Amino acid sequence: MKNYNIVLLKGDGIGPEIVNEAVKVLDRTADKFGFTVTYDEALLGGCAIDATGVPLPEETITKCKASDSVLLGAVGGPKWDNQPGNNRPEAGLLGIRGALGLFANLRPAVIFEPLRNASPLKPEIIGDAMDIMIVRELTGGIYFGKRGNFDEDGVPAAYDTEKYNVNEIERIARVAFDMAMKRNKKLTSVDKANVLDSSRLWRKTIIKISEEYPEVELNHLYVDNCAMQLVRDPKQFDVIVTSNIFGDILSDEASMISGSIGMLASASLNSTKCGMYEPIHGSAPDIAGKGIANPLATILSVAMMLRYSLDEPEAADAIEKAVSEVLKTTRTPDIYTEGTTKVSCSEMGNAVCSLI
Ligand code: NAD
Repeated sequence: MKNYNIVLLKGDGIGPEIVNEAVKVLDRTADKFGFTVTYDEALLGGCAIDATGVPLPEETITKCKASDSVLLGAVGGPKWDNQPGNNRPEAGLLGIRGALGLFANLRPAVIFEPLRNASPLKPEIIGDAMDIMIVRELTGGIYFGKRGNFDEDGVPAAYDTEKYNVNEIERIARVAFDMAMKRNKKLTSVDKANVLDSSRLWRKTIIKISEEYPEVELNHLYVDNCAMQLVRDPKQFDVIVTSNIFGDILSDEASMISGSIGMLASASLNSTKCGMYEPIHGSAPDIAGKGIANPLATILSVAMMLRYSLDEPEAADAIEKAVSEVLKTTRTPDIYTEGTTKVSCSEMGNAVCSLI
C-alpha cells in the first residue's frame, strides 16, 4: 500500500483548527482509496518565533524537503506585528517558498453552485459556472529584485526592481501550458508589455514556448485590462499565467468573485513533485480559537495536493464532490444563509468526511 509523508505547518490563529479538519478528511480519503498517510509537524510563523526566536527554523526546512508534500494553515497575527521585517511570520512564509524552490503558484477561482449568491457579481455575468486557474510566478520579479532606500537630493527615496530571466519565464510558462492542456486548452498571459522591458521579455518567451503547445489557444492581455475583464466577463478565462506581483493582485481579485475567502485553496509547486498546499486566507486572528473558522479552503487544498503531488486524482475528485454536496445543506457562519444548518469548524470537517 502506498504511504505518503506529509509535513503539517499548522501556523498561527485559525491555522491549527483548519489543518486538523483537513487531516481528518485526508485520513478518510486514504481509508477509502487504499493508501496511508504519515504526518510530521513543524513550526512556521509566529509559533516558530515564540518557540525558537525565528519564523523559519532550519528543522522546518529539513522536514519539508524530506516530505512528499506540505500542508500549511496560515501564519501571522497582531502578537508579532512589532517584529522587524525580516523576522515577521510572513518572512517565514517567503523563506519556505524559496527554500523549497516553489516557483509556481496555482490559485483556482471557482464558484460552487450553492454559493452563487455570495458572489458580488450579477448572476448573468457569472453565467453557468466560473472556473479560472491563475498560475502565478512565485520566486522572481519585484518581490525578489534589488531594492533599497537612498537620499535623492535631500529627499528620502526608495526603489524596487522587476527582473525576470528567460529560464524563469520558460518554466512557469510550461506549468501554465501543461495546466491548459489538462483543462480547456485556453491560456491568457498577462503582462504590461506596453511599458515594461521585463514584460516584453515575458511576452516573447511565452510566445516561444507556445510553439511546443500548438493545441493551446494563447492570448495576451495587459494587466490593467485583465483586472477589468475579470469583473466584466470572467467566463472568458480558463488559465491565466502572470508574474509574481500581477498574480498577487489578480488572484485576490478573482477570488473575491467567488464570494468567500474561506473557500479558496492554493498550491505552490517546484520542479519535483513536492508541493506546498494552503488556503489563500490568513490566520483570521479575530475568530481564532472560537471553533467557527471555515475549514473548506484547507480541505480543498488537500484535494489539490492529492491531484498535483500525490497522483491520487480520484481521491481529489471525491473531496471536491463532497464539498459541493455539503454546501447544499451545511455552512460555517462565514457562508451561512437561511435554510441551511450552521455548524462549527469541526462539524464541517465531519460532514465532509461523511460524504466521502
Ligand atoms: P485574513 O484572511 O486572516 O482575514 C480576513 C477576514 O476574513 C477576517 O474577518 C477573518 O475572520 C475572515 N476569514 C479568513 N479566513 C476565514 C475562514 N477560514 N473562515 C472564516 N472566516 C475567515 O486576513 P487579515 O485579517 O488581513 O490577516 C490576518 C493575519 O493573517 C495577518 O497577520 C496577515 O499577515 C496574515 N496572513 C497570512 C497569510 C498566510 O499565512 N498565507 C495570508 C494572508 C494574511
